[in-house]
Amino acid sequence: MTQQTGKRAYPRDDLRALEGYHSPQVDVAVRLNTNESPYAPPPEFVARCTEQLAAIAWHRYPDRGAHDLRDALGAFLGQAPERLLCANGSNEVLQTLLLTYGGAGRRALLFEPTYALHAQIARTTATEIVTGERAADYTIDADDASALMRKTQPSIAFVCSPNNPTGTVERPETVEQLLDAASDVGALLVVDEAYGEFAPWSALELVSDDRPLVVVRTYSKVWSLAAVRLGFAVAPTWVIEELEKVLLPYTLSVPTQVAGTVALEFRREMEQRVASLVEERGRLFAALSERVGLEVVPSGANFLLVRVAGDAHELWERLLARGVLVRDFSSWPRVEGCLRITVGTPAENDAFLGALDAVLPSQAETGGRDA
Ligand code: PMP
Repeated sequence: MTQQTGKRAYPRDDLRALEGYHSPQVDVAVRLNTNESPYAPPPEFVARCTEQLAAIAWHRYPDRGAHDLRDALGAFLGQAPERLLCANGSNEVLQTLLLTYGGAGRRALLFEPTYALHAQIARTTATEIVTGERAADYTIDADDASALMRKTQPSIAFVCSPNNPTGTVERPETVEQLLDAASDVGALLVVDEAYGEFAPWSALELVSDDRPLVVVRTYSKVWSLAAVRLGFAVAPTWVIEELEKVLLPYTLSVPTQVAGTVALEFRREMEQRVASLVEERGRLFAALSERVGLEVVPSGANFLLVRVAGDAHELWERLLARGVLVRDFSSWPRVEGCLRITVGTPAENDAFLGALDAVLPSQAETGGRDA
C-alpha cells in the first residue's frame, strides 16, 4: 500500500482505478434500458401495502430475520425459510456472497460477457477474478468451464442464466457439470437468475443441503418492484448461516419486508405479466430478425441483445433523439456493436420498432440483407 499525505484521504489503491457502474438514466418517453417491468404493480397491491404500512411501528427496528417474508416466500417457492436470505436487491445478495466466500487471497470465476456487477463486486471485495470465455453463441462450454474451475480453484463461481446482457439460458446439464466441478474444488456455485421467471427452466430445483449451489433471484423484474430493492438467495442452510453473519443487522426495512410479503398474494397477476412479456419478446424477436443489418441473439429473459451491422452507437443516439432509450453495449468487450432492448408494453415495443424503421438505413440503401 502506498500511504499518501496531504489534505485528502485516499481509498484502497485497487479501488482507485475502478470506474463504477454506469447506466444512464435519461427522462424519455420510452425507457427500454434497465430490464425493469414495464407494468406498475396492481392497484390492489399498493392498497394492501399502504394499509399495512399505516400500522407499523416506525420507531422500532425491523425484524432482523425477516421471518414473515421468508415464511411466505418459502411457501411460495416450496423451500424451507432456513434456505432463504433476503437483502436490498439481488445486488446486495451478490455482495454478501462475495464478502463471505470471496475476499483477499481468494478467486471468483466468471464467464464473460456477463452481468458487470459480478466483476465489480469481486473487485470491491478484493477478490481476484478468473475469467472464462463464453462460446460464440454466448453459451458456456461445460467441459472447458469445468476444466477451468478445476485448474484455477476458485472459492466462488458465477453463472448468470438467463445471462445479462445476452439473454442466453444455460442447459441444466451445464449447471450440473459445473456443480460437480465446484464440489470437487470446494467452490460455491452461484446461479444468478434475476431473469429466471422468463426462462424455460430454473436451477432452483437443484438446491439441496448436500450441494454447494446458490440461486439468486430478485423482485425487481417480474414482481414490478424495482423501486423497493428486494432480492434473495436460495441456498443450503449451511450457506445461509454464514451469509447471515455478514449481512448488516436490520438491513431490510419494514416497508421492504411488507412489500415483498404482500406481492406474493398477486401470483396470478405476476404470471400473466410474465406470459405477456414472453409473448412480446417473441414478437420483437421476429420483427427485429426481419430488419436488414440486425442480428438478434436468442433470449430467455425480458430483453434482447441485437448486433448492428453499422454504427451501433450512432443508432442508439438516433433512437434516443426519437424518445426511445435502449442500452448501448457497442463498446463493451465481446458484445461490440450491440444494443440491448428491454421488452416493454406492446405500445412501447411498437414505438421502438417505429423509431427503428425511421432511423435504420433502408434495404435499398444497404443493398440487401448482408449489409
Ligand atoms: N443480476 C442480474 C443478472 C441483473 O441483471 C440485475 C439487475 N440489472 C441484478 C442481478 C440486480 O438486480 P436487483 O439488485 O435490482 O435485484
